[in-house]
Amino acid sequence: MFATLSDRLADTFKNLRGKGRLSEADIDATAREIRIALLEADVALPVVKEFVGAVKERARSEEVSGALNPAQQIIKIVHEELVTILGGETRRLRYAKSGPTVIMLAGLQGAGKTTLAAKLALWLKDQDKTPMLVAADLQRPNAVQQLQVNGDRVGVPVFAPEPGNGTGNPVEVARASIEEAKRRLHDVVIIDTAGRLGVDQTLMQQAADIRDAVQPDEVLFVVDAMIGQDAVTTAQAFLDGVGYDGVVLTKLDGDARGGAALSIRSITGKPVMFASSGEKMTDFDLFHPDRMASRILD
Ligand code: GDP
Repeated sequence: MFATLSDRLADTFKNLRGKGRLSEADIDATAREIRIALLEADVALPVVKEFVGAVKERARSEEVSGALNPAQQIIKIVHEELVTILGGETRRLRYAKSGPTVIMLAGLQGAGKTTLAAKLALWLKDQDKTPMLVAADLQRPNAVQQLQVNGDRVGVPVFAPEPGNGTGNPVEVARASIEEAKRRLHDVVIIDTAGRLGVDQTLMQQAADIRDAVQPDEVLFVVDAMIGQDAVTTAQAFLDGVGYDGVVLTKLDGDARGGAALSIRSITGKPVMFASSGEKMTDFDLFHPDRMASRILD
């Protein structure tokens, strides 16, 4: 991900090398190149406009500091603006003050929710938490079993309706799971909810009902970074239909152009909290805007 964007930006900055001072024309040309690079990376247009406007404004008005040449100065500005659109600070999980912390996952089918649920459970385990997974996706055949397989892989128990009970009510499963977590002294509950292939009113309502029933400490919207601009549209639909506190980007290891990752924070106002970047259970971490910006500019 970001390979094309990185190359494009590197070429743009190369053109500035050796220049003693940046003329207005240099700044305009650079801004134009950055705009094209971002649009080609599938970044949403309003985000591109805001980004390029900010870079241009700063390039014009900021004094070039002693140690940096003009090209380095522009790179520094672009880096800082990238960190800003990626959300600034790393947003960490908020744990409940008492009782189990309840994390609910929402998103489209295929976004990587079930995989992510297990990755998050493993990550929490590594921080000395005692998580429990909850299979409240009773829509998709095999979803419960898939979560159980993933739970086994990371050594985390899965709370699920009885096998064969396909008519189980996800809201009741979610509610019962909290009681079970309290009884068994699990300090984090991760609820996997059903997704559909497209945004769907019934799905939204079900997720909203689960949310109302269990009052999660964190609702995380899980989205496949490979789906480009659609990620932003879906993010907006879930924000309106269910609401969430943070975003998890999955499949960041893919060769998509990265626009979703760059747009989603600005468009939704919600922080990207975690990034999932592969099939292995350990391909997962907190999302660090500064590291991501450095990766893009490397
Ligand atoms: P769900 O329908 O949202 O529960 O999605 P799944 O967890 O079943 O994931 C859908 C597919 O994406 C599966 O084949 C996963 O192995 C794959 N997948 C999930 N996360 C990642 C990731 O970060 N990178 C890659 N390359 N594949 C992923």
